[in-house]
Amino acid sequence: SCNDDSDLPEELRQQYTLSRILGKGACGEVKLAFEKGSCKKVAVKIIQKKKFSAGGKQQLDNVSRQVMTEVNILKSLKHPCIIQFENLIDTSDTLYIVLELVEGGELFDRVVQLGKLDESTAKLFFYQMALAIKYLHDQNITHRDLKPENILLVSDSHETLVKVTDFGLSKFVDSQTMLKTFCGTPTYLAPEILLTAGTGAYTKAIDCWSLGVILYICLVGYPPFSPDRKDMELGKQITGGHYDFPKAYWSSVSTGAIDLVKKLLCVNVKKRLTVTEALNHPWLQDEGMRRKAEI
Ligand code: ADP
Ligand code: MG
Repeated sequence: SCNDDSDLPEELRQQYTLSRILGKGACGEVKLAFEKGSCKKVAVKIIQKKKFSAGGKQQLDNVSRQVMTEVNILKSLKHPCIIQFENLIDTSDTLYIVLELVEGGELFDRVVQLGKLDESTAKLFFYQMALAIKYLHDQNITHRDLKPENILLVSDSHETLVKVTDFGLSKFVDSQTMLKTFCGTPTYLAPEILLTAGTGAYTKAIDCWSLGVILYICLVGYPPFSPDRKDMELGKQITGGHYDFPKAYWSSVSTGAIDLVKKLLCVNVKKRLTVTEALNHPWLQDEGMRRKAEI
């Protein structure tokens, strides 16, 4: 409950009052919290360290050290389209990551609520996601888990600002947990990951594939690759790049938007657009939209 915080570490209790759950994912829970004194609202991501390792204590200690290194990198990041890391409380079994709070919900829920986004809103949101990913890629950080659940909106308003979250730590989640997550949402998974069976020999280009899947979903409200398709299993759809643009859904979408989706959902990694190339695509050269993004 909200008030029983006796099991929380002293360092956390001194600084924050924890409240309701904001969301759940593979890593654990994210809770609303209030900074004591200022009453400022924040989000606290609670990660059980055992999620990071299936092995014994030695391995857990090793991974914990790597995670701390990564979290310190993440703390140093600063971008208007990325959720800001604010604080970290580290105990022997749990990591509490204090984050900037946003209150507009997940892009996922927004698309479900509205059925799909207007092309102009899709463009405004996509532009901000691409800026965030360019910022990460420029520092050699791959997000690895881009999907509409990890894209958060600042407010309920129609043309709001977007913040990317949940990056950098997914590579530490043990492969069993990760596999389960993929089985839940392989929708966003790049073909080269399926083809190399997750051996880790892939690059930043996996984020660009996911950006293509997200853009497709924003524009029409359904995914390009789906386990519901009767003609072909999901893995084969993805590795073969088997998706299309049925007239019934795509006739009102501009050729520029479709062209960008095609160039991101390109199975050949070498031909797939980089995020910088995506930002230079004609569809995103839109002064009105860029003004709304305020960046
Ligand atoms: P996981 O790694 O478990 O997926 P996330 O960091 O994606 O964890 O957080 C899970 C969910 O919690 C998000 O999808 C979102 O709904 C909510 N959430 C996470 N961070 C914030 C935040 N800073 N502000 C508001 N909600 C958040
Ligand atoms: Mg997540």
